[in-house]
Amino acid sequence: MYSKYQFILFKTQKMNKSSCPNIHGCQIINIKDFIAPEDKEIYIKNYCSSEKEEWEKCKRYITKNELNFCPDFVMPDTEYTTDQILDIIEKEY
Ligand code: SF4
Repeated sequence: MYSKYQFILFKTQKMNKSSCPNIHGCQIINIKDFIAPEDKEIYIKNYCSSEKEEWEKCKRYITKNELNFCPDFVMPDTEYTTDQILDIIEKEY
């Protein structure tokens, strides 16, 4: 059974919109209760299922590309630089 969010993304893909290539592995989409449902809906609308120009701005997408992983505390609109994210990881883990 697909979640409401996966359904939105599948529908987006059917409409030939170019959703984010990370949708099948991203925690925001795939882990229930990873974030509040209302936040999830906003992120999916504004980033994941939006046009390429939008999901390319997602900090989770950028971080995954630069570090080959994305820590859980990074959200699509996180304003930390990648270096700041690395600093936080070093301090906290
Ligand atoms: S949160 Fe970012 S990386 Fe994850 S699927 Fe959405 S746009 Fe892609």
